[in-house]
Amino acid sequence: MVQKILQTNAELNDWLSEQNSAIIFIPTMGGLHPGHQYLIEKAKERKTQKNQIILVSIFVNPLQFGKDEDFKKYPRNISKDSELAFNAGADAIWAPNYFEVFPGGENSHFKIQVPQTLNNQLCGAERAGHFDGVATVIIRLIRIIRPEKLILGEKDWQQLIIIRKLFQELSIAIKIESYSTKRDQSGFAYSSRNSYLSDSERVNAQSLPNTLKEAKTDFEKEKVINLTKIASKLKENSLKIEYLKIVDPFSLKEIENLDGICLLAAAVKCGSTRLIDHTFLMQRKPIIAIDGPAGAGKSTVTKAFAQKLGLIYLDTGAMYRAVTWLIISNSIAPNDQAAIENILKDSNLEFKNSSFIEQKIFINNIDVTKKIRSPEVTSMVSEIAKQQFVRELLTRQQKAIGKDGGLVAEGRDIGTAVFPDADVKVFLTASPTERAKRRALDLNKRGFEFSSIEDLEQEIKERDKKDSEREIAPLKKAQDAIELVTDGMNIEEVLEELTYIFRSKIPEEVWAYPTL
Ligand code: C5P
Repeated sequence: MVQKILQTNAELNDWLSEQNSAIIFIPTMGGLHPGHQYLIEKAKERKTQKNQIILVSIFVNPLQFGKDEDFKKYPRNISKDSELAFNAGADAIWAPNYFEVFPGGENSHFKIQVPQTLNNQLCGAERAGHFDGVATVIIRLIRIIRPEKLILGEKDWQQLIIIRKLFQELSIAIKIESYSTKRDQSGFAYSSRNSYLSDSERVNAQSLPNTLKEAKTDFEKEKVINLTKIASKLKENSLKIEYLKIVDPFSLKEIENLDGICLLAAAVKCGSTRLIDHTFLMQRKPIIAIDGPAGAGKSTVTKAFAQKLGLIYLDTGAMYRAVTWLIISNSIAPNDQAAIENILKDSNLEFKNSSFIEQKIFINNIDVTKKIRSPEVTSMVSEIAKQQFVRELLTRQQKAIGKDGGLVAEGRDIGTAVFPDADVKVFLTASPTERAKRRALDLNKRGFEFSSIEDLEQEIKERDKKDSEREIAPLKKAQDAIELVTDGMNIEEVLEELTYIFRSKIPEEVWAYPTL
């Protein structure tokens, strides 16, 4: 394909209609550096279909500069930028002038206003109107380009969060992928504005990434952050602090409880140049909770997903099934609570051979991996799983398995009761008919007999009802879970969607997840 530099909307439209392709769009203001290069390379690596093309825009958006900011001197060098973008894998560059993007001129276009909850934090509090300008231009650009996917850097974290929320609120079905901040060998984040720094300022500016990195290392050892110490180190190097805060990465609100992923973010002035940088703090590895009703395909995808991420796979349903099997095989009635407590209190439940495909479950040293899938266990498990003693016992064991994080757990109450602070919560579901079909395939594969798909559907509905209506930890979507309805999707498609959800909750800087 001939690499093109397009300027007018007409040129862009002609070119787009010639391509008939899905567009991966990387918006920039030019002044391209290795950080942009990384985004373009990632876009290229992530092309999943032949007909996807990468379009990089270069537009210095006046709306996002304050009155006394650097709009005039912002680096503009289209030939240098094009060379970098094309070498990295861009198929075309669109470098429109102001009137191509805002044809009516300054006073006759709609402006987006970012809500105060997001705007009054971090950079927004210092740069009045900045994010409104960003949101306004991004809506313009995507209306003109109509991309399938947008690629953004995590360097401008607040911008990323605002654009995600904007798309979510306006139901804009364009996927957003983000990639980590690129740094030079000394750890200094690439930024178009670095070119403003004099040699001596550059030396001082180095203390910004150094201090944040040190703080992160200290946090990993001591589990505390000392903002006063960080601030004095920055000041010692003549950096003037605009803000230095620990915030929730998604709400951007300041936090004191540092349990989940936290963002330690700073903006400083080095001479007249404004620099921002951040680091993520995390006490443990990520926890991913996948809940949903029977037969939604949770096991297959959770297992594959855990394998892909290199995390522990925890099938909590298998634990309830193993306990049920023990009760049945000791001829204990499901309502005989005393006998159930008695047999369970000294029982030993463990997963062995954590290789994902062949994970085995043992109860009192008996391998019950296959036995727990029998229709007999399946029809009784919900009766057992609703009992307080059983739930407390298994929940305690599940929490112990996940105490250091680093796991993908599936069940009914993972996001609500077992790991309410999970970093990613997904509610995986499908229609009862689809689930019955999947259950039938699964039973066939495992060599179990069943009467009919209609009966399976009925059995699934009854189990869902029991699981949803029980008093303790019922099956329900956690309020902060993302619902994924998988009707008509194959495993690869569900995995791709899960990966997308995971990426939107766990920055690449926190967990270097594999690409699809
Ligand atoms: O997922 P699976 O079909 O193996 O789960 C079997 C049963 O175990 C569910 O129907 C439910 O009654 C119970 N269960 C539960 N809480 C979990 C996982 C499973 O109550 N976290």
